[in-house]
Amino acid sequence: MKKIQMLIGGRWVGGEKDEWLPVINPSDGEQIAEIVNGTANHVDEAVRAAEAAFESEEWRAWKPHERGNLLIELARYIRENAEHFAELECRDVGKPLTQARADAEAAARYFEFYGGAADKVMGDTIPIEDGLLNATVLEPAGVTAHIIPWNYPLQIIARSVGAALATGNAIVVKSAEDTPMTAHALAEWFADSPLPKGIYNHVTGLGAGAGAALSAHPKINHVTFTGSVGTGISVMQAAAKNIVPVTLELGGKSPNIVFEDADEEKALDGVVRAIIQNAGQTCSAGSRLLVEESYKEEFLGKLKARFESLKVGRGMDDKDIGPILNKRQFDQIMQRIEEAKAQGKLISGGEAVKVEGGEGGHYIAPTIIDGLDHDCPVAQEEIFGPVLSVFTFKDVEDAIRTANSTDYGLVAGVWTKDIDVAHTVASRVKAGQVFINNYGAGGGIQMPFGGYKKSGIGREKGFIALRNYVQVKNIAVRFGGG
Ligand code: NAD
Repeated sequence: MKKIQMLIGGRWVGGEKDEWLPVINPSDGEQIAEIVNGTANHVDEAVRAAEAAFESEEWRAWKPHERGNLLIELARYIRENAEHFAELECRDVGKPLTQARADAEAAARYFEFYGGAADKVMGDTIPIEDGLLNATVLEPAGVTAHIIPWNYPLQIIARSVGAALATGNAIVVKSAEDTPMTAHALAEWFADSPLPKGIYNHVTGLGAGAGAALSAHPKINHVTFTGSVGTGISVMQAAAKNIVPVTLELGGKSPNIVFEDADEEKALDGVVRAIIQNAGQTCSAGSRLLVEESYKEEFLGKLKARFESLKVGRGMDDKDIGPILNKRQFDQIMQRIEEAKAQGKLISGGEAVKVEGGEGGHYIAPTIIDGLDHDCPVAQEEIFGPVLSVFTFKDVEDAIRTANSTDYGLVAGVWTKDIDVAHTVASRVKAGQVFINNYGAGGGIQMPFGGYKKSGIGREKGFIALRNYVQVKNIAVRFGGG
């Protein structure tokens, strides 16, 4: 059994004295590895190693373009080993291999993008008065913590670590206890890289142990947390005690809003893909369909046919939909489906699926539920499975009101040929990203991503995310006789 150790201060940590946790392949329930259940002491060691490395002369001597080149090298390494990374992610998360390959490419793109940005993060000169040169300098925050969810570990590590390393920080990653495999593969690369020891650290373990210890550590200078709202609140509370800023990327209940004049094929494709990707275990899943009342019957009929043609299978079999992460997630989703059946009308799916060779896994048929009240829990809360709830709207105002009727605001899709309608909806929907006649846009490495309302605080991806990891220092220089 592969034993995954933690990378702390350039050393591999984890031995007989430690508690070990199993890592399970969701496709068949087989154990694929073991991780250390990292403790508060391990976290403390990692943070102190990061702090020492950050303060070292060795790290200060690294020029921005050298950090950038290193990230670009990492991107190249991921591309050269894309199949290895994709298979690890596929076995660990359960997602279909094609989707895992897309994750490997997205991770490479993040490192490449932030590698290119490393020597282009600049301050301003600000005119004050004659005889005074005033400039802002963007300095690295210091030690940055990155708490990672289980659903897209490779991509999510790459997007925040890429930006934080580009800006010169020292990193502590806490990977998700269920899916540490690609996080470990990245740690192996960093361990062999020329980075000063302690600049990149990877700790494993449970959220309540290692995760809580990391977010509460007084020597952390910034926390990027991606995960559920409840945990996000705990992380923010812990960080608040140390006056440490947080970037929170949380959940969603994102609407796809389909008008009668939409390009039907594109809208059908978009709506299906937005909810089945990673079996719906995606923060930006399009889990609500809002369809114009007059068009509902026709659109829903075609959507049902599409749903019923989807294939469910093991990750490595590369079908449309893979397994649910584990029994706990499966039970939660099935409970929501049962509630939805009782409160509304089942249009498609709504049941567990048996998969040959995947008897030890948990699979759910892609599901459509109609006729729910807007305010019932199934319509309001993230289900995190392949479950689409359908609502109708009468006109543009009604569509906007319904789209904004949850506590979330991560992503929205609008499908119409009417430019006026499209922009009216886009300007009034409370969501961090709005897609018009598309959804998800190729991974969107360069596009700011983040939430309104309970979907989060701050933005990741794109240039804007570099700002998460810097302090702004103003320097005023008096010169001449003034
Ligand atoms: P989670 O909140 O259970 O766990 C996320 C991470 O936090 C894990 O590493 C976990 O070990 C750790 N953790 C748990 N308790 C902790 C605590 N008390 N203190 C510190 N860390 C703790 O989330 P999950 O189930 O892994 O992921 C699913 C959720 O993540 C969904 O809500 C999904 O929408 C969200 N998500 C959001 C984005 C985004 O970018 N907005 C991306 C992916 C997932």
